[in-house]
Amino acid sequence: AHLARIDAVDEKVHAFLHVDREGALAQARAVDAQRAAGEPLGPLAGVPLALKDIFTTKGIPTTCGSKILEGWIPPYDATVTRKLKEAGVVILGKTNMDEFAMGSSTENSAYGPTGNPWDLTRIPGGSGGGSAAALASYQAPLAIGTDTGGSIRQPAAVTATVGVKPTYGGVSRYGMIAFSSSLDQGGPCARTVLDAALLHEVMAGHDPMDSTSIDAPVPAVVEAARSGNVKGMRIGVIKEFAGEGYQAGVVQRFTEAVELLRELGAQVVELSCPSFSYALPAYYLIAPSECSSNLARFDAMRYGLRAGDDGTRSAEEVTALTREAGFGPEVKRRIILGTYALSSGYYDAYYGSAQKVRTLITRDFQRAFEQVDVIVSPTTPTTAFPIGERTDDPMAMYLADLCTIPANLAGNAAMSLPCGLAPEDGLPVGLQIVAPALKDDRLYRVGAAVE
Ligand code: GLN
Repeated sequence: AHLARIDAVDEKVHAFLHVDREGALAQARAVDAQRAAGEPLGPLAGVPLALKDIFTTKGIPTTCGSKILEGWIPPYDATVTRKLKEAGVVILGKTNMDEFAMGSSTENSAYGPTGNPWDLTRIPGGSGGGSAAALASYQAPLAIGTDTGGSIRQPAAVTATVGVKPTYGGVSRYGMIAFSSSLDQGGPCARTVLDAALLHEVMAGHDPMDSTSIDAPVPAVVEAARSGNVKGMRIGVIKEFAGEGYQAGVVQRFTEAVELLRELGAQVVELSCPSFSYALPAYYLIAPSECSSNLARFDAMRYGLRAGDDGTRSAEEVTALTREAGFGPEVKRRIILGTYALSSGYYDAYYGSAQKVRTLITRDFQRAFEQVDVIVSPTTPTTAFPIGERTDDPMAMYLADLCTIPANLAGNAAMSLPCGLAPEDGLPVGLQIVAPALKDDRLYRVGAAVE
């Protein structure tokens, strides 16, 4: 049924870069055979899923939205891919994304943009716009995203779906193509809070193949999603997350959600986190710095594209020609920014200062979490904007992640879930919930209460 749905609508939506028809049917048949034989089934046996094209899939093309990886077929599965298969999940295919996960609209994909199912002329968010659009257009009930600065939560917000960035280290990064390693985190996307929790439990957990993976039990997210009891919980509202630059309908729906939490027995506390105003500039030094280092591996020798190799050129020339032809403008912009920020003489002034800001933001969160159990805010300042509106204005594009970036810098857990439609344009609004590291279960408790 889901393959038929993809056939019917994805020409218009363009959520998928690759549909693995044979693989999906084979996995579905294998689950059927297991069931018929009375063998034990995995926790998500037979449930279809759309996988962001940033995760390696053995034998299935993986492009990360880039021309530089066109035609590359990974020889191994990411840990997340492996865990999904072991749980019996049917992987339908790989979803569209901004090239190397750099963007907030999926317009930076080398393979063309994805439409927002609510209005195909608008962006589905990014970088994981393909995964969110697949959910919102009922092409898959579950999807996987990655969140470096908001790429799970912002697409969830603008498509009225649920997206969770687990605590940093909660989900293995092994086989998840690196953008900014100290920020990148894979997580579940779904249409309901409970579905997201069921997927979270399957994909999370310690992995010796990832040195930053946390060796701690997975928080009891399914139990929390089934409870939804917020009586007596302390909910923080941050002064800095509303006001100037926020669409009126977004603020209105957010205010109503806070009111609902109060009615359900939560205690609402107003807080100030003054360092958050520096989160965006700090992120745009740290993320490009790490990306400039991570993307050095695309050298034309090891993966995918090789340009200009006619037998007369040196390896250096082939590398340069390949990177020129294979990377898009946003990726090049970030490599240049990051290389500059890390260069000798500038390192302390740029990268060093950004790391100090990161510490201040973490401390703001720590102080806040002494007073409250979770923090809520709008996920994005505005609803989905038209395709093309911000492509020539990187700063306007970067502002889409104003509210999501602080949680990445501090490594906290965070969720976005639907929060009604903005009255002025009828488009989805997202509610963001942030919890301290390792307290991912609180997201699900609060999310289930207000969903
Ligand atoms: N939009 C942000 C960026 O372009 C976040 C991307 C992400 O989370 N992968 O860096």
